[in-house]
Amino acid sequence: MFLRELAAPITNIKGIGPAKVKYFANAGIYSIAQLLCRYPRDWEDRSRVVPLRCFEKGKVCVPVTVTHTEWPQLGRVKTLKVHISDGETNAVLVCFNRPFLEKQLLPGCRYYLYGSFSYRYGELQSSAFEFEPMASIPAAPTAMPLMPPELTSDNSGKEFFRILPLYPLCAGLTQNYMRSVIQAALRQYAAPLENELPAAIMEREGFLSKADALSALHFPKNIEQLELAQKTCIYEELFYLEIIVGKRALERKSAAKAKGAVADGGKDMANSGSLSPLQRRFVERLPFPLTSGQREALADINRDMDSPYPMARLLQGDVGSGKTLVSFMAALKAIEAGAQAVIMAPTELLARQHAENAARLLEPLGVRVAFLTGNVKNAGRKQLLKSLAEGGVDLALGTHALFSKNVQYKKLSLVVIDEQHRFGVTQRQAILAKGERCDLLMMSATPIPRTLALTVFGDMDVSVISTLPPGRKPVETHLARQSNEKKVYDFVRRELAQGRQAYFVYPLIEAVESGGELISRSLKDAESMAERLAKEVFPGVPLALIHSKITEDGKSQIMESFRSGKTKILVATSVVEVGVDVPNASCMVVEHAERFGLSALHQLRGRVGRGEAQSFCFLVYSDELTEDGKQRLKVMLENNDGFVIAEEDLKLRGPGQIAGTEQSGYLKLGIADPVRDADCLARARAEAFAILEADPPLSRPENAVIASVLHRAPPFPDAGL
Ligand code: ADP
Ligand code: MG
Repeated sequence: MFLRELAAPITNIKGIGPAKVKYFANAGIYSIAQLLCRYPRDWEDRSRVVPLRCFEKGKVCVPVTVTHTEWPQLGRVKTLKVHISDGETNAVLVCFNRPFLEKQLLPGCRYYLYGSFSYRYGELQSSAFEFEPMASIPAAPTAMPLMPPELTSDNSGKEFFRILPLYPLCAGLTQNYMRSVIQAALRQYAAPLENELPAAIMEREGFLSKADALSALHFPKNIEQLELAQKTCIYEELFYLEIIVGKRALERKSAAKAKGAVADGGKDMANSGSLSPLQRRFVERLPFPLTSGQREALADINRDMDSPYPMARLLQGDVGSGKTLVSFMAALKAIEAGAQAVIMAPTELLARQHAENAARLLEPLGVRVAFLTGNVKNAGRKQLLKSLAEGGVDLALGTHALFSKNVQYKKLSLVVIDEQHRFGVTQRQAILAKGERCDLLMMSATPIPRTLALTVFGDMDVSVISTLPPGRKPVETHLARQSNEKKVYDFVRRELAQGRQAYFVYPLIEAVESGGELISRSLKDAESMAERLAKEVFPGVPLALIHSKITEDGKSQIMESFRSGKTKILVATSVVEVGVDVPNASCMVVEHAERFGLSALHQLRGRVGRGEAQSFCFLVYSDELTEDGKQRLKVMLENNDGFVIAEEDLKLRGPGQIAGTEQSGYLKLGIADPVRDADCLARARAEAFAILEADPPLSRPENAVIASVLHRAPPFPDAGL
């Protein structure tokens, strides 16, 4: 049995009844396997004594004696204070709202105590502590078995001399409850689990068996064992990630394109990468030459499209580097060969902008362009779908609606995904399934850290546009306190007077009423600010408000008015974050900038500086600035380069929180973190690729275990790998 084969429902575990099942369901846990894969987010080391005098080093964990108790008046209420000593240091437990502790912490008795202490009012105090009577501790620390004794319902005496797992919290499930049911599940199911790594690797690396590693991950006997269990499980996870990535790359390389491109046998290799006739006509009509970065990216793409293998290329380029044009030219090449192309954008706003550009730039070349989103309905939609299926449309632009079930293409050969970090990897397969061995071009302004690129996009080729179109001046960035907002507004007023346009961005759409998330009253929102800016700050200046609650038609009218210059000020939420391209806008004012993530700020700033005029970005911050917020603003002030900002972002966020992975679903790993575990990733990758190279079908006996894992219990079933 492999761990992921434990498909039995969690109700098989004693202690999990119907009442709890719904809480587990909220956390996505239905099966035993899912329960056991609910790894602790951290561990609390109560295996070693930490006396009171070491309170500054972390949590205190020590036997203490209660000396006396008292009920002083603290503020308006009398509060229980319990005086304790660990034999060398005295301290006080302050029992806010816990008067009942008087009956549990008795003078003269001894307890195990765990908690954080600090000096306040001249004494060593704690108000966050846990304890239990010493008599109830069953075993000496050295005699702890690997599997700790079963937790009883009151848990007395089981919380010391151990390393306790801390599970990610979820509603209705307490730490103690999670500990006890996972413990029960391990007891019932762990022992017979099969190893998932080839024996040779296990031996060479000195890994724990799957059963031991899993048990130790939840309830380690000591820190050394925990570390080894982590090492084992992290390697295993990354190894399979790379096996899957490697297999995908192999399959791609070994599959010639359906369109029979092998026929020309690479005769044109010298020529390959150069512009096609339609592409040349396109470039001739442009009012500017392509940048060198655009030309190089295009050469890569053309070469891929000419090769017999399907293209899988990631095109990275900072905001404003001109990726859209490159994707249009790729589409031209597909269309010229008699096939269809689609360009998918993450938002309707952006899709529409692309569609308008495509109509303007490509229709004169005879390309039949269509626009499809979820909002294209009824007769129009029917007609459009028919046209796509019959080949009456050459290029379709839209949102993910382009890949809905009922959409068919006559001969789809190129799929472009813009701002791909917004899409889950899952969608990739569904998309490619619409054509036969489609070429795939993904575009991203959010630089994907190298380590991530290695994992999720490990089978993709990468082109980078590192040049910006000429004449661009770097955006000038200024930080401003909220109390100095007037200066910012005055500055914007001068820019407006010179015919420029401005964005004002806010973290909220409207004022939050009670019941919503608890957000400070002082937070500005787009709706109220639109009113204030229009009435008080810029009276008479045409201003519009745009946010996600406005209908798509409404949004597109507002954008059109802003693009044409009729509207001078666009008050927005982060809907303008990606892709929006209005070169005459020269000011970006982000209020409560401290509330935005680095990649959002970089994207927002990228909305200006797209024309030849000097542009400005004002990051206005409120006085409640956290250390984190301060750091982010500093990074923005000091850097313009998206790659550097992405790296800084990684550093600031730390492991486990790669830019946008959560919401975009790059990939949800269980325990490994490709950034933190970069070294392990590299080793696992080398190993996995070497195995695949030597034994592509994984048919050798020593690789049988890999084949069975992939067959019986495929890892990352939801990742779309
Ligand atoms: P990205 O999607 O990479 O952020 P866009 O494709 O939106 O960038 O392009 C940004 C702006 O630069 C657009 O207004 C586009 O017309 C313009 N542009 C693109 N290529 C060039 C070029 N070679 N020279 C001058 N301007 C360009
Ligand atoms: Mg773009």
